[in-house]
Amino acid sequence: MKFRLTGKFGELSPVRNWQPHSGIDLAMPEGTTLRSIGNGVVDKVFDGSSAIGKGLSIKFPDGTRAIYGHLSDVKVRVGENLSAGDVIGFSGNTGNSTGPHLHFGLKDASGGTLDPTPFADKLASISGDHVAPGIITQLFNNESTQGPLTRLFWSSSESIREKTADVATEVILGILDAAKDLIMAGTLLGAGVLIILKVAGWRDGGRWAGVLLVVNVLLRALFGGV
Ligand SMILES: [Zn+2]
Repeated sequence: MKFRLTGKFGELSPVRNWQPHSGIDLAMPEGTTLRSIGNGVVDKVFDGSSAIGKGLSIKFPDGTRAIYGHLSDVKVRVGENLSAGDVIGFSGNTGNSTGPHLHFGLKDASGGTLDPTPFADKLASISGDHVAPGIITQLFNNESTQGPLTRLFWSSSESIREKTADVATEVILGILDAAKDLIMAGTLLGAGVLIILKVAGWRDGGRWAGVLLVVNVLLRALFGGV
């Protein structure tokens, strides 16, 4: 998972006056983009005056509610309709919080607490900007900034357009991933070859192997570790 689970559901801690934790906590940098996990309606916005800090509650068609807490900024209003993946705000450290994280809770139709742990992976995968699925779809479909690709897809039906854009996202991310892997493998393999040349008597082999290893380490840092 992209974010560390720092607070389990039902956990007891003095931070919460020994009350069982009503949701899960995911540690994430302040300002991480948060999205709705499903289609629903914003039914509450918390202004930051309570323990949960700034946040919101989204009501889904089956009556279940998702609660997001400790945000730095809420970007939606009560009554707003949301589709799965819509941006709802940015994570923060507001309310009763000891560090930047997202509190995520689930309630059933009658207000009873549910264990949101099964949704942790999905929640993590749609949070943040870097690997958000369909982010290019949004760019393509933003009518005020219609690019050539948008116009290209405009004639086809909405769903095909979204699919195509999503596939485009996947392909682009895939190519970047493959290129990164190739460079990684190339630098390591190159270093190995140069070390062998060095052993075989080439004076500069060791130096260039060192350069390649440094490049590899830098690339790792650049790509956030692999
Ligand atoms: Zn929490």
